Amino acid sequence: MESLTTDERTTGAENVLWDLTDLYPSATDPAFIHDVETIGARCADFHGTWKGKLRTLDITAFLQMLVQYEQLAETMDRLGSFAQLIWSTDTEDPKNGRLLQQTREVAAQAGQHLVFLGIEIAALPDETLKTLIAAPELATRRHWLERVLDYKPYNLSEEVEQVLAIKSLSSRHAWVRMHDELMASQVFRLNGREYSEAQILKLLQEPNRDVRKAAAESVSAGLAEGIKAQTFIFNTVMADHMVNDRLYGYASWVASRNMANEASDASVQALIDSVVDRYELVRRYYSLKKKLLGYDEFHDYDRYASVGSDETFWSWEDARDIVVKAYAKFDPRAGEIAQMFFDRNWIHAPVRKGKNGGAYSAGTIASAHPYVFMNYTGTNRDVQVLAHELGHGIHQYLSRQQGPLLMDTPLTVAETASVFGEILTFNLLYEAATDDKTRLTMLMTKLDDILSTVFRQIALNRFEDAIHVARRSEGELSTERLSEIWVTTQSVQFGDTVKLSPGYKYWWSYISHFMHVPGYVYAYAYGELLVLALYEIYKSDKSGFPDKYIEMLSSGGSKKPTDLLAPFNVNVEDPEFWKIGLGVIDRLITEAERLAAQ
Ligand SMILES: [Zn+2]
Repeated sequence: MESLTTDERTTGAENVLWDLTDLYPSATDPAFIHDVETIGARCADFHGTWKGKLRTLDITAFLQMLVQYEQLAETMDRLGSFAQLIWSTDTEDPKNGRLLQQTREVAAQAGQHLVFLGIEIAALPDETLKTLIAAPELATRRHWLERVLDYKPYNLSEEVEQVLAIKSLSSRHAWVRMHDELMASQVFRLNGREYSEAQILKLLQEPNRDVRKAAAESVSAGLAEGIKAQTFIFNTVMADHMVNDRLYGYASWVASRNMANEASDASVQALIDSVVDRYELVRRYYSLKKKLLGYDEFHDYDRYASVGSDETFWSWEDARDIVVKAYAKFDPRAGEIAQMFFDRNWIHAPVRKGKNGGAYSAGTIASAHPYVFMNYTGTNRDVQVLAHELGHGIHQYLSRQQGPLLMDTPLTVAETASVFGEILTFNLLYEAATDDKTRLTMLMTKLDDILSTVFRQIALNRFEDAIHVARRSEGELSTERLSEIWVTTQSVQFGDTVKLSPGYKYWWSYISHFMHVPGYVYAYAYGELLVLALYEIYKSDKSGFPDKYIEMLSSGGSKKPTDLLAPFNVNVEDPEFWKIGLGVIDRLITEAERLAAQ
């Protein structure tokens, strides 16, 4: 809630609230109460009607079953979205917490009746699945069925899956939760005060170098206190992952993640190789930052220091006009959809006591529409956040036509519309800036983000790759071994440009993505470089691009990413493709160097 005290300017967003009527008129409305009271019985009916019969269904009956399933899933998501959205805007009202808990419990109970479906479809003979996939009646659900077939080689028997699912609660999930709880309760001490992880990490962005240095030392000291436990947790979670890979038959530690992302191993390797090949861009960028900050030496705690200050202020109306204009200039259809979010009250914008932080676009359900959540304070950055979330919103709005099973895209392309919209808007803001000093500040802020998304995440991936491989060949890894791998994989990108403090060796231990979703982090770099490349393609040929782009967004998750991208003639398995986005980063750094030299 810091922003309430530090920024009391009126933005015009104070009363920009969403209208959730399209989900339910209210939590006391008969429609809401009816759904809460009947969803369990409806799911139980579904179970009674279809369980054990999927093998014998003809195509008409199979479609009928799927449609019923979609309706039940939609009702559960409608209840869940509604409660979640209400709660997120006022978490301090106990009524909202109760509502959220109530819908979760109702959905969990009802959902138990639906679990059989995935298992039973997966157990259908290949021939049956192929017949269903080929059926014209099921064409709009085809890719969902294709995914079931893709996963078949990795399926275990129903009994084994059930045992694994139950046992994972007291094995993998318990260890991940312990990681979270230890990090959440870890105290970081600085000048007699105690800080949480989030608070102390935020201090690393402070303009005052002494504060950053002291904060970094406090992080190191706090992580050192918990390092023994984290070493054990990392080893256990990695061993669990290894055992699962063997049981399911995945060839490498990252193969299951690539499968879930619908990204081929070759495309991920091409991405990683291309980024590692351009690590010199990191060194060039931090050399420039060192010069701008006027330092002789550049340390790990200097990386997130902000350069200059950007005082630009935009009212909510200004922000709306800029963002809608950016989208409309790209394509009128995108502009119209963006405008709808404002006209129809699909945005919750003000900073309020009790409201969650951050921003997101909630896709909700196919038969309603997305809602955008943010905390608007009027900065250049907030305008880009609005553009980012509206990008998700436009994507989700268009992909609703794919229905509940296929409206969501895989992780690697999920950020396409958001980052693309952010670029469109950044360019407008950059042109609107009145002096080079503001431009340089904007550019450095942007580059901070891009470098974190592309190079930092790939360096994290290199660490993650090395520890999983080492765990499999060397057995349990000591704290020293993990730290040595960490320092090595980080140093490669920094070279001599960034001096790492001794305590930095333990900074691998707080990164929760490693525990929550092994292999997750490369998707950030994948998404960012994909969009930078698409934007280059757009710049070189504006005529045909928007049609293909809108078509891609409208396809949602109904095709695999390579097929979604096919109309743009890109080959994600070719390192040359990834070099396009890296070339854009190179040009942005060159532009910043030019502005800095003036
Ligand atoms: Zn996003």
